Amino acid sequence: MAIKFEARHLLTLNDDREIFSPGAIVFDETGILYVGAPDGYSQPVDQEIVIPEATIMPGLLNGHNHAAMSLMRGLADDSPFFEWLTEHVLPVESRLLPEDIYCGTLLACAEMIRSGTVGFADMYFEVEQVAKAVQESGLRAWISRGLTESSQDKLSESVAFCQNWQGQAQGRIVTMLGPHAPYTCPPQFLEQVAEAAVSHGLGIHIHLSESRDEIRQIHERYHKTPIQLAYETGLFKARTLIAHGVHIQEEDLPWLDGLVGGVISCPVSNAKLGNGILPYRMLRDVGVPVGLGTDGPASTNSLDMFLEMKAMAWMQKVRDGKPESFSAEDALWAATRGTAQVLGHPGGRLAPGAPADFIVVDSRQPHTTPEWDARANLVYSASGADVRYVVVNGAILLREGIITTFDERALLLEAEERARRLREGKG
Ligand SMILES: [Zn+2]
Repeated sequence: MAIKFEARHLLTLNDDREIFSPGAIVFDETGILYVGAPDGYSQPVDQEIVIPEATIMPGLLNGHNHAAMSLMRGLADDSPFFEWLTEHVLPVESRLLPEDIYCGTLLACAEMIRSGTVGFADMYFEVEQVAKAVQESGLRAWISRGLTESSQDKLSESVAFCQNWQGQAQGRIVTMLGPHAPYTCPPQFLEQVAEAAVSHGLGIHIHLSESRDEIRQIHERYHKTPIQLAYETGLFKARTLIAHGVHIQEEDLPWLDGLVGGVISCPVSNAKLGNGILPYRMLRDVGVPVGLGTDGPASTNSLDMFLEMKAMAWMQKVRDGKPESFSAEDALWAATRGTAQVLGHPGGRLAPGAPADFIVVDSRQPHTTPEWDARANLVYSASGADVRYVVVNGAILLREGIITTFDERALLLEAEERARRLREGKG
């Protein structure tokens, strides 16, 4: 069934960064059939939706998340990191039931759909529950089980999960291996993970160079940087998603030469935890793809990628000390094409043959009027609450602000109940 959407602007984020004003997109379940001026498509369509005061753009891709941690949102904010982790987050995590992880992931999916995210890369445990929630939500996800110890059994379980779920949910689920970080996984274990990834054709999702503490610890233990350690253990032989990368130095660049994958910047998490600002320009100058992510909702509190795009633009301007160093279009690019490049995904752009993943953002609101530049309005003025339609894999997941794939109201009540039980320690 072919559906046509028409709006005031359409941002393609294709290689030529074309914008059509007005613009239209036609798609069916196989993908995008047409992108361009509204009168440029002459075939009959089954449905036509015209939203004159809105912008159509590729759906946002959240490149780093721990979705189920939405049930831990707001637990002991502003406390020192170690206290927050050991006294608040870990005790709650130890009480999590598989159903909590399903419910927490679906809660995060509801928030992501409402704020224009069409896919996310996730690292957590009880990953079958994560996969089931993704399947129900209609979103795309790159799912990995976080591996935090040197355990051959856990690695084998992880590979089995990857094989069972690879390509499930009409291809919306991609599985990866998720060694948590170089300070939680010893080098010999990272070598085993790298070998498994190469032999099973899987990508790797890992936290690297996130904090000064990590840099110091890895230097004390191995006299290396986290990037050098990752390279030498063979991780970069597989596609690797590097979450954070805040403290990547110039001396790391040779290790990143030829990297398949890239870095996912999480500016809100990096700011909230006091970790620093990604050296974006240095990485882009040597051709390392950079995408955008939120990190888990327990540390970031919000999965709104519009907020994340703003934060990325602000922080890069602060880092470089000049407003022209990072544009609104750079932020849009990171949140769509950048993340897609890191993941090896053909989406993040609107073009015939690409996956039918896009969003429609209301652009006639007090905070988006007047509109001189749709890109600047989207990044500096809009928020996730302005998203009216979300389409993933040709299916409408958000229609006029209403989620179509599950009962959102019932989910919110259940999530509140489960979060309360977990916080009070009954479980
Ligand atoms: Zn993380």
